[in-house]
Amino acid sequence: PINPWRIGGPVIKGFGRGSKVLGIPTANLSTVGYSDLLSEHPSGVYFGWAGLPTRGVFKMVMSIGWNPYFNNAEKTIEPWLLHEFNEDFYGEELHLIIVGYIRPEANFPSLESLVVKIYEDREIAERALEIPEYSKYKDDPYLTSPS
Ligand code: ADP
Ligand code: MG
Repeated sequence: PINPWRIGGPVIKGFGRGSKVLGIPTANLSTVGYSDLLSEHPSGVYFGWAGLPTRGVFKMVMSIGWNPYFNNAEKTIEPWLLHEFNEDFYGEELHLIIVGYIRPEANFPSLESLVVKIYEDREIAERALEIPEYSKYKDDPYLTSPS
């Protein structure tokens, strides 16, 4: 179990690889101002709750790190919201509560094996977030606060 932590800000543009290459869109957050939080928490896959003040609160599974498969030079914060949206929401305020850790960052021999693993991560997140010790955070006021 981890101590839940909160991060938020406007959704920024990433490299466009989430949805285009993987079929898995990730709403990127700026890491500016979060260097302390990020160095306290190991790179890897986490789960928790995501709030978009005008749209609601959704389950999310998130990668924090360098994405070894893509060889990124900078750490990124990339939550996949487990909900079907019919439009993008770049620029909107996104608030996250991270409540659990799934696994460390890993490299994969192929894009297929990476995608399979991310779908497993999603299953783990979906189920864990139904457990009261994790589900209770969906009511945290931070998720729906406008800023
Ligand atoms: P980028 O590299 O710019 O982050 P992605 O391919 O990762 O591009 O797509 C992410 C964008 O898709 C988000 O910024 C958001 O506007 C939109 N989006 C649509 N559905 C989702 C979802 N379920 N989870 C996360 N982002 C989503
Ligand atoms: Mg993304």
